[in-house]
Amino acid sequence: MGTVKLEPIAPCHLVALPYPGRGHINPMMNLCKLLASKKHDLLITFVVTEEWHGFIGADPKPDNIRFAMVPNVIPSELGRAKDFPGFVEAVCTKLQEPFELLLDRLEPEVSFIVADPFVVWAVRVGNKRNIAVASLWPMSASVFSTLHHFELLKENGHFPADVSVRGDEVIDYIPGISTTRLADLPTVFYDDVQQVLNRALEAVSSTYKAQYLISTSFYELEPHAFDTLRAKLSSPVYPIGPSIPHFEISKGAHDNDLNYLHWLDSQPKSSVMYVSLGSFLSVSNAQMDEIIAGVKNSGVRFLWVARGDASKLKDGVGDMGLVVPWCDQLGVLCHSSIGGFWSHCGWNSTQEAVYAGLPVLTFPIFFDQIPNGKQIVEDWKIGYRVKKKKVGGGDIVTREEIAELLQRFMDVESNEGKEVRKRAKQLQETCQGAIAKGGSSDSNLDAFIKNISRGYS
Ligand code: UDP
Repeated sequence: MGTVKLEPIAPCHLVALPYPGRGHINPMMNLCKLLASKKHDLLITFVVTEEWHGFIGADPKPDNIRFAMVPNVIPSELGRAKDFPGFVEAVCTKLQEPFELLLDRLEPEVSFIVADPFVVWAVRVGNKRNIAVASLWPMSASVFSTLHHFELLKENGHFPADVSVRGDEVIDYIPGISTTRLADLPTVFYDDVQQVLNRALEAVSSTYKAQYLISTSFYELEPHAFDTLRAKLSSPVYPIGPSIPHFEISKGAHDNDLNYLHWLDSQPKSSVMYVSLGSFLSVSNAQMDEIIAGVKNSGVRFLWVARGDASKLKDGVGDMGLVVPWCDQLGVLCHSSIGGFWSHCGWNSTQEAVYAGLPVLTFPIFFDQIPNGKQIVEDWKIGYRVKKKKVGGGDIVTREEIAELLQRFMDVESNEGKEVRKRAKQLQETCQGAIAKGGSSDSNLDAFIKNISRGYS
């Protein structure tokens, strides 16, 4: 535990500070909704940059959650897609001053901060002002442990390393992590964007000075990683995931067209593959053309969330497929017509698949998506890989490979198809046990609330 002293004031006023991106705002809001529902006298101020206010301002929320805005001093979400390292740097360097000005103005006095550690200065600000901070880790516990043990990669000669040559080398020495290939580590270890790696390491080390670490994962999903973290960190670690109920960020930004739900209602049970390749990263045009052709040639029914390039997908699919710009993903995943999820393996999507009990076709692109995909396929055994990152290049997956894989993936009658679905359902039950009253995540949340409530009304 750090040394911050809590001065009792009432009521307990918590400020939530997410990193400005969908995959970070969603779990932070989900946590706030859970806290607000369990502790009605808690006042929560949810801080977002101006850009995000339009997306979330109109969203239904409990009365004890209010929004506050800081000016948009960083590039837009679009800028995040174009220049990811530049966006990360801007968050790390430009947002602190406006946030501190806001803190000075907020009433009643702020008693607690829950911050995303990728806002790397947040714990420092809390410590400086004698405000306790909980870091909300937005990725898996395994990725936390991997970053935490970065020095081991160096000691074992795996950093720096050329993944195109050494990608198949085995890493079996990271505590809490099952044996992995070098190419299945987070891309920040080998993609030559040193700046982003440094910021990710800074994010992890910032949590050492926080008073609490909250994880969006759940204990039973990654028990060894959590045991390791609890043994190594001095602050309490609270796995409270999966990060649901889902926060619908779509309202206001897109139309409220729910036709896709009617379409799903008209499809046979477990027959539709849901495809979402993430909210801000894209694949190359050449790969996208192969994916589109592969999906169409497979004859598999699909619901695809696609951004800009959606028009190419719509031609010639008739009633077999639907393309939408946005949807309530968790609602879709839980619909009985959905039989599989082709995912980029963002951490939220990964947990939503587990919650919905669906098998996953993994197509990770970047950072933690790679080890998330590895856990899905090799550790939890609830999915298949679209491709294994090949050593020495040749990364494009052809339309023929994709069509064949999709038929295999959506075949619910084959032994393999039955087996993978059985495991997905078993993991779903474990997940639902964790969030049920008295389950591990629910109890951790209660313990966290008890801790932060000491001395407050
Ligand atoms: N999402 C959604 N509707 C969509 C696409 C995505 O609600 O059409 C949500 C999804 O449920 C998840 C989040 O956006 O909660 C994306 O987070 P994730 O970590 O999976 O990926 P990221 O976009 O951060 O790479």
